[in-house]
Amino acid sequence: HPEVAFAGRSNVGKSSLLNKLFNRKALAKVSSVPGKTSTINFFSVDDVDFVDLPGYGFAKVAKSEKARWSELIEGYFNQERRFALVVSLIDIRHPATDLDVGMVEFLSETGLPFIIALTKADKLSNMQRGKQVAALRKQLRLPKDHVVIPCSAEKGTGIDELRKRIEEAVS
Ligand code: GDP
Repeated sequence: HPEVAFAGRSNVGKSSLLNKLFNRKALAKVSSVPGKTSTINFFSVDDVDFVDLPGYGFAKVAKSEKARWSELIEGYFNQERRFALVVSLIDIRHPATDLDVGMVEFLSETGLPFIIALTKADKLSNMQRGKQVAALRKQLRLPKDHVVIPCSAEKGTGIDELRKRIEEAVS
């Protein structure tokens, strides 16, 4: 089955976005321990395997926990898989973190098909939103035509486009 993976730092809004995208409440479980590396969660919808990668970069997490995250993620990406798309989630309000930049660099270098979903877009005005999209594009050194979708799990912004991009990638 083709695989679509979702990656982003802890608290970026990944669970909320997945729940919105699949019209399910609490499909993606919210960990009771913030920043605790859990497991990679897989779920299948219509012959597509969706992969919920554990969030990275929680500030208060021990080194051993960070190492465990890296191992888990590297193990995942190093296996032979049918990657249709990786959706890299980044908070629209702030500059990308070093780990966000690292993730995007990794995806670019490995040539994996990926798009960027900028989360929590409802927290910005339209004007701020446009500015942040441009700033993040520049920071992440994305080509002009690279897909970047401002999203809001709260307001539903960008969800249809995200769904469309996923459908295109798996078909
Ligand atoms: P995860 O750790 O990446 O799975 O993040 P969560 O989905 O658990 O969300 C983290 C926090 O951000 C929660 O307090 C959510 O209510 C909030 N949040 C998530 N998505 C949105 C959004 O689109 N808009 C707003 N305003 N808040 C959001």
